[in-house]
Amino acid sequence: MSSTHVLVLNCGSSSLKFAIIDPNTAQEHLSGLAERLGEDSPQIKYKHDGEKHIITLNAGDAHQIAIDKLVELVKSLNLDNKLVAVGHRVVHGGEHFTQSALIDDTVHQAIVKTADLAPLHNPANLLGIDAATQAFSHLPQIAVFDTAFHQSMAPSAYLYALPYDLYKTHGIRRYGFHGTSHYFVSTQAIKALGLEQKSSRIITAHLGNGCSVCAIKDGKSVDTSMGLTPLEGLIMGTRSGDIDPGLFSYLVNQLNYSVEQVDTLLNKQSGLLGISELSNDCRTIEEAAADGHPQATLALEMFCYRLAKQIASFAVPLGGVDAVVFTGGIGENSDAIRANVVEQLGFLGMTIDESANLDARFGKQGEITRTGTGPKALVIPTNEEWVIAHDAAQLAQEQ
Ligand code: ADP
Repeated sequence: MSSTHVLVLNCGSSSLKFAIIDPNTAQEHLSGLAERLGEDSPQIKYKHDGEKHIITLNAGDAHQIAIDKLVELVKSLNLDNKLVAVGHRVVHGGEHFTQSALIDDTVHQAIVKTADLAPLHNPANLLGIDAATQAFSHLPQIAVFDTAFHQSMAPSAYLYALPYDLYKTHGIRRYGFHGTSHYFVSTQAIKALGLEQKSSRIITAHLGNGCSVCAIKDGKSVDTSMGLTPLEGLIMGTRSGDIDPGLFSYLVNQLNYSVEQVDTLLNKQSGLLGISELSNDCRTIEEAAADGHPQATLALEMFCYRLAKQIASFAVPLGGVDAVVFTGGIGENSDAIRANVVEQLGFLGMTIDESANLDARFGKQGEITRTGTGPKALVIPTNEEWVIAHDAAQLAQEQ
């Protein structure tokens, strides 16, 4: 194993996902998740050489202790001397970051400043950055932003039709998220289909707990469905996606909701969960729908309809479509949702290949439409960690 490996960290408010990755081959030498950090029973679960292990932490142990334990683990496995960088997933880079960046004082301050735009995510990302900087002080720390890929959008795509001053003074605009995933799967699709990047028109659908669609022209994001926050756009596990903003004052004035209650309603109680009144988990909903649960069936119908409508609308900025790519937990596994969406897009000349669609599940890549003149549909498993490892190794090398 050569010394070119990257420790990739994805830090949430009570969790920390980590992996040690060879950026050249995408091979993972260690991967794991520290969860319930700062709560009653935190623990670290990890996989090394195919074997699973658990480290139990003390009640209340938070990010710094989890990272200290991770350092001990990395050393005990003799992986520390293989590392060339630590790569951090950072959710919001605002307009400041159009690409990944080496974290120095200026970059750190810019991420702190951007926390206003992502109060749920950036502070957690900073916890990971600070703890890792202390623990791996000899390694360059690199930030890879979920928003950076979408910085190529034009003002006509990223502005809201609000007073312009809200944009100029407060940065209120559409930013988009899931950028590393949209970038990765679009690049893989271009390769798989043998297209020229500079004349390619790809629509990517990242469908996980959060869901977004991206229009990618000549390798660059020209529009995406998420906005200032990850709430805009598609129906998601617990998020409503697009609604009439007039709903906000109706809930407040007529139904006496507080601002916090509206926020919780739209982010945590809506989407698949809100409609099905059952679960935010697509598998549970598909099983219930198969058993005849009417609201589970409705939730899936709404999810697919909104997704198909969003994909079709992105033919406008692209001026045509070469391929639609499905990824994320739902996109990589739900043959039923993919078949439904491709059927609704049939007017574009796409037809599902049922056996290829069934085949492309559980981590398998594949083309799932029959040969024809219309756009192709592909399933491509995403690998955001690999993109982070790749960018981090490259920036570390340039130092
Ligand atoms: P995250 O956005 O948290 O990374 P994932 O990309 O892992 O989430 O996606 C989680 C979603 O994928 C859940 O709704 C889950 O039910 C769904 N999913 C995973 N496996 C399947 C499957 N076999 N069939 C349908 N949906 C699935």
